[in-house]
Amino acid sequence: MANTVIESDLSLVRDITKLGGGSLKKCFQCATCSVVCNLSSDDRPFPRKEMIWAQWGLKDKLLSDPDVWRCYQCGDCSVYCPRGAKPAEVMGAIRNYSFKNYAQPKFMGTLLSSPKYLPLLFAVPVILFLLVLNGIGALSAVPSGPIAFTRFDNYVDVIFVTVSVLVLAALGTGVLKFWKNMDRNNTHGEAYGTTGIFQSILLAAEEVLTHRNFKKCEANSIRFTGHFAAFYGFIALFIVTSIVFIGDRVFHMVLPMGQENPVKVLGNLGAAALIIGCSVAVYNRTARTQQAGESSYYDWLFLGILFSIGVTGLSTELIRLAGDAPAAYWSYFIHLVFVFCLIAYFPYSKFAHLLYRFVAIVYARYSGMSEPAQAAEPEKPEVKSVA
Ligand code: SF4
Ligand code: SF4
Repeated sequence: MANTVIESDLSLVRDITKLGGGSLKKCFQCATCSVVCNLSSDDRPFPRKEMIWAQWGLKDKLLSDPDVWRCYQCGDCSVYCPRGAKPAEVMGAIRNYSFKNYAQPKFMGTLLSSPKYLPLLFAVPVILFLLVLNGIGALSAVPSGPIAFTRFDNYVDVIFVTVSVLVLAALGTGVLKFWKNMDRNNTHGEAYGTTGIFQSILLAAEEVLTHRNFKKCEANSIRFTGHFAAFYGFIALFIVTSIVFIGDRVFHMVLPMGQENPVKVLGNLGAAALIIGCSVAVYNRTARTQQAGESSYYDWLFLGILFSIGVTGLSTELIRLAGDAPAAYWSYFIHLVFVFCLIAYFPYSKFAHLLYRFVAIVYARYSGMSEPAQAAEPEKPEVKSVA
């Protein structure tokens, strides 16, 4: 009989504990969590197997597991876990571990993993934008004339285009490695070719855009509401920013737009949806900890940056309309700092879940893993947490 070699990384439990999965060791493998999870499928039940892999230090298995990303952290499994092992939080911690592990360069993953580096992360954009202000002489005197943020365009473009290129390279490297790892360790999906890659991409896009599986959350359904609002608020703002960027730089569009302009209306609605969505998420994570579970540093950092972008974007516009030039420019400055943090730290923060989840769903469809909807709806057991 062939020997099976298990490569165990003994530091994994410590790392997962630090990243929000401190209850991991309580698991006694009863499998209740996999039974109650509405997203788990018959051929690849989760999250019990991830709990075992994490306890045994099977780092490679976890890093190449698409099911880690098919979980939306609804918390149903944690509610029913008889040991209080909080599998939902452990799954979240494994995803945090993945951001850190796939990060290139590695030191960026470390910088984003602990609050002690937060001042440094914010110091970078603050110093950069102070240099910009100094470069155009706006530090010593408020620019004269009407309030126009376009006067910073040349400097802002250089910073954001450079950062975007670096971020795309880092994301591409991480995602490629993730795909290769999933493929190397795939022992379930023999049915390649049943669903072509383009069809798999379309199916994954449909799942993400409709939040179809996210809706199946029961214990913590409010999480779906907050995520849906923040997601579409962000999409609206992304579309508006792209239109303004291309319109301004290529077609020399007249800015600022009037309040009745459809692009402006979309921007304002997007900002409102983002703020509302983030507020719901904050409420859920602070006032409903029993259902939402404990939040990690990754959760708060990402939520804080998104929320701040919505608030500073809206306040910058209101202050500009009020005609207070110094306050408007400083508000814009703070807004740019948060936008920089969102974009520059994308591959290393929770923001990256957007891409890794999408890629994992594409891979699941492409490799023939069954959809949760194909599994029989599990009957919820009468179990109460004892820990
Ligand atoms: S329900 Fe709890 S104890 Fe049972 S396998 Fe899942 S995490 Fe472990
Ligand atoms: S948190 Fe929800 S989606 Fe994730 S494993 Fe638990 S029950 Fe399933």
